[in-house]
Amino acid sequence: MTINVIAMSTSAHSPADTLPTAGTVTDRLVEANGKYAARFTDPGMDARPVLQVAVVACMDARLDLHAALGLELGDCHTIRNAGGVVTDDVIRSLTISQRALGTRSVVLIHHTGCGLESLTEEFRHELEMEVGQRPAWAVEAFRDVDQDVRQSMQRVRTSPFLVHTDDVRGFVFDVTTGLLREIDPAG
Ligand SMILES: [Zn+2]
Repeated sequence: MTINVIAMSTSAHSPADTLPTAGTVTDRLVEANGKYAARFTDPGMDARPVLQVAVVACMDARLDLHAALGLELGDCHTIRNAGGVVTDDVIRSLTISQRALGTRSVVLIHHTGCGLESLTEEFRHELEMEVGQRPAWAVEAFRDVDQDVRQSMQRVRTSPFLVHTDDVRGFVFDVTTGLLREIDPAG
């Protein structure tokens, strides 16, 4: 409950329009979808992204990928997780994106002030102590965002499953200015 109050107070929505009824936040989303669908017309697209690009980015709530990159509906695949880290599951999505759905370019986006910069792999150990089971996944915490973007680019470029690894570029999005800063893969 406390978490909800904090999240809403920092939201772009005014407190008055956060919960029009007494429902949960999901009820609010479903209500918004009803309005969206009422205005929606079938764009008649197939599943292949128009710009043949896949964007891998952090799940951060301050990063509006479509607005920040001038993307329209149908333009790209967006693959997001905590940190925008290139995990095995991101490689899975990129492989399907390239081999089944025709994308050729990969854009990687990390950002300033990422929550993963304040975590360490100790997070896993604490989790294990608490629940009695060690997670199979790494936290993928990092200290140097530029270096983490380089590592992510390297993971994409060296994946044996991908067919297009010549156009892979990495960036850091500044959540205070909205600007992308490109990372030189060579450092
Ligand atoms: Zn982040």
